[in-house]
Amino acid sequence: MPLTRRHRRKRSTRIVVTLLSGLLPVVLGSVILYMQAERTLQQSAGETAEQALRQFDLMLDNTAEAARMLLPLAGKNCEEVKLALREQVTRRPFVRSTNLVWDNNLYCSSLFGEFKEVVNAGNYHDGRLWLMNGNPVTPDTALLIYRLSNGRGGALTTLDGYHLSNILRLIGRQTLLMLQVGENWLSADGNVHKGSLPVLPVAQSVLESQRYGFKVSAGFPKGEIWRYMAAEYPPLFSLLLFFGVVSGAIGHFIQQRSTSPSHEMLRALEAGEFIPYFQPVVYGDSKRWSGAEVLMRWNHPKEGLVRPDLFIPFAEHSGLIVPMTRSLMQQTAVLLGPQSATFNKPFHVGINIAASHCHDLELVKDCRDFLAAFEPGSVELVLELTERELIEPNDITLELFEQLRALGVKIAIDDFGTGHSSLGYLRTFKVDFLKIDQSFIAMIGIDALSRHILDSIIELSAKLDLGIVAEGVETQAQVDYLTAHKVSFLQGYLFGKPMPAADFIRALNDR
Ligand code: C2E
Ligand code: CA
Ligand code: CA
Repeated sequence: MPLTRRHRRKRSTRIVVTLLSGLLPVVLGSVILYMQAERTLQQSAGETAEQALRQFDLMLDNTAEAARMLLPLAGKNCEEVKLALREQVTRRPFVRSTNLVWDNNLYCSSLFGEFKEVVNAGNYHDGRLWLMNGNPVTPDTALLIYRLSNGRGGALTTLDGYHLSNILRLIGRQTLLMLQVGENWLSADGNVHKGSLPVLPVAQSVLESQRYGFKVSAGFPKGEIWRYMAAEYPPLFSLLLFFGVVSGAIGHFIQQRSTSPSHEMLRALEAGEFIPYFQPVVYGDSKRWSGAEVLMRWNHPKEGLVRPDLFIPFAEHSGLIVPMTRSLMQQTAVLLGPQSATFNKPFHVGINIAASHCHDLELVKDCRDFLAAFEPGSVELVLELTERELIEPNDITLELFEQLRALGVKIAIDDFGTGHSSLGYLRTFKVDFLKIDQSFIAMIGIDALSRHILDSIIELSAKLDLGIVAEGVETQAQVDYLTAHKVSFLQGYLFGKPMPAADFIRALNDR
C-alpha cells in the first residue's frame, strides 16, 4: 500500500518538533552531567575536608604530646627546665615553641628562657586552642597555641601557622579550604580572620574535629560546576551533540514521512498517475449500455494499479481530491469527447464528487469545460455524491446546485441506504438518481430485511420520480429481481468490470 493515513503538519511546527527532538537529549544529558559534576565536587570537597582534618589532628596530637610531657615541670625553676622545653621544640616537627605557666603567668619560654606574660584562659577555645595572628616574635605569621593545665600549673605549646596554611594550600589545591578555631579562621594564604567561616557557594563541606573541636571547611567558588564540566566532559558533550543530531534527524525523518502521503500524491498528480477507469451502466429493461461510471485508479510506478479506497481518503484529507477529480474529468473529456458522435444519446457519464468539492462554485466551471468537449446533447453528466458525506445546504451550495442544474448536470446520491439523507435533503438538492448501495443488492435472495429495505428504496424512488441505479449486480437472480421491480439502471461485474479507456472505447464501438 503506497500510503498510510497521517496528518500533515505546518512547516513551523515541523521545525519546532525537529529542534525539540534534537535538543531533548542534549538538555537531558546536560542536566544529568551537571548533577554528576555536582556530586563529584561534593564528594571531592568532603574527602579534602576529611584529609585536612586528619592532618590537623595529627599535628595537634604532636603538639599536645609535647605539652603533656612538659606539664609535670610547671612550677619548677625556669633555668632548670628550659633545656627540656627546647628539647621538645627540637624533637617535634611541628612544635615551634614551648612555655610553662604558673598561676596564669607564662614564666618560662623555650625561646627566651625566663619570661613574664599574663595568660588569659578566655582566649582559648574550650580553654585549649587559640588561633592568633602572630605574636611579638613573628607578628605576621599565624600561630596555633595548645594549652594544657592542671591546678596552678600549665604548659603552652605552639604550632606554626606556616604548617597549617601549607596543608590548606596543598591538600585543597582545587578546593577552597579553611580552618576555624573558635572565633577565628585561617585561610590558605596564612591570614587569620575574625568571625564565622564564609559560606562557600558550591559543594561546601564542614567537618569538626572530635578531639580538638576545630572545624575544617572545604568547597568551591561560584561557577565551579560549569568549569569542571568544561574541563572534564568535552568527550561526553561531543557524544551528547552527536545524539542530538541523530535524534533531530530521526524527528525530522519521522515528520517527513508523516507529511509524505500528500507530497507523494501531489507528485503523482503532476505525473498524471491518476487515470480514469470506466464501468458500464446498463438500462434495466433493454440491458443496453446507458453510460459509464468513471472510477479513479492510481497507476503507481512501483505499486502498480492502486484501488481508490486506499488513497481517496488521503486525497480528501489533504484537499487534493479537487484537482484530482478535475484532472479525471479532463482526461475523460479528452478520451470520450471524440466518441460522442457514436453515443446512444444521451450517454450518462457518472463522476464521483467529494463533498469538499462543493465548497465553492469552481465545480460549475469544471462541468462546463467537461460538457464543452462533447457534441451538444450527446452526454448527460451525473455527479455522484455519497450519502455518507452529506452536503450542507447553505447559500453557496444552493447556488452551486442551481447553476449545475442550469447547465443540465444531474445529481445522484451514491451508496444510498448507508447514510441518512432525508426526503427534505433529496428535494433541496433536486436529486435525479439514487444509486442503491451494493450491500443491499448482494443480499437479494439471502436476507429478508435487506430485501425489505431495497423494496422500500425502489418504492420511494418511484414515488419521488427518481431514476434508480442498482450497483454491484453480479448474478442473474439479482438481475431478475431488479428487472421485475422495474429498476431503471444496473451496474455490476455481470455487465462489465471497470476497465481502462482503450478497452471501454473498443467495447463501446463493438456495440
Ligand atoms: P463507488 O462510487 O460506490 O463505486 C463503485 C465501486 O464498486 C467501484 O469500486 C466498483 O469497481 C465496484 N463495483 C462495481 N461493480 C461491482 C460488482 O459487481 N461487485 C463488486 N464487489 N464491486 C463492484 P472502486 O472502483 O474500487 O471504487 C471504490 C470507491 O472509491 C468508489 O465507490 C468511490 O466511492 C471511490 N471513488 C472511485 N473513484 C473516485 C473518484 O474519482 N472520486 C471520488 N471522490 N471517489 C472515487
Ligand atoms: Ca459512485
Ligand atoms: Ca456506490
